[in-house]
Amino acid sequence: MKRILVLEDEDSIREFVVLNLKRSGYEVVEVSTGEAAIDAFSKDPEGFDCALLDIMLPGIDGFEVCRRLRQKSEKLGIIMLSAKSQEMDKVSSLMIGADDYITKPFSISELIARVDAVCRRVGLTELRSGDENELHSGPFTINLKSRVVMKNGTPVNLTQVEYQIMEYFLKNQNTALDRLSILRHIWGESYYGEEKIVDVNIRRIRMKIEDEPSNPRYIITIWGYGYKWSAGSE
Ligand code: CA
Repeated sequence: MKRILVLEDEDSIREFVVLNLKRSGYEVVEVSTGEAAIDAFSKDPEGFDCALLDIMLPGIDGFEVCRRLRQKSEKLGIIMLSAKSQEMDKVSSLMIGADDYITKPFSISELIARVDAVCRRVGLTELRSGDENELHSGPFTINLKSRVVMKNGTPVNLTQVEYQIMEYFLKNQNTALDRLSILRHIWGESYYGEEKIVDVNIRRIRMKIEDEPSNPRYIITIWGYGYKWSAGSE
């Protein structure tokens, strides 16, 4: 059974979320402060598939919790719960390692769909077995079985979303990919978020894989369209 950590200080929202996650077959651990969330996760880092993090909290905020959980685990799925007025939260939370965000007020079907999608991605890490498939490009090797990306033999720490984008690129080398295709491929056909989420993730991947993130060789921007993977040869 998939296990979800729910951090929300407003009792009514938390209870509503927890009840519905349980109804959908998830096991839930609920907390109302950031400190308690970090505590619960630290005690059992392997025990969670996904965390739902509210941003505005009495003690440390959801961004800080996200940052700390991400330090402990690249594998954990993280979804931020952001209030409508906090437009900037979306971009900021993705920058610090969240996989997705959901804006309050949200419907239960929307919430469950996001949680299902994130958990499915996390599950792929464990489930994929069989053919030892590797893709190569320039200094990069990607192992589709272990979902590990190596640069010159050193593993690159990527979140699940970042990994998926890398896999998509390496399967489509030297092909211009438009933002919407990337969005649909990674987040699903029914995703109705903004294409900006793609740019934010690309920026993060570049920080991790490019020698000079401001002058990328591998992930090339195609202005007004999207991105293209290049093996890096001049
Ligand atoms: Ca709150």
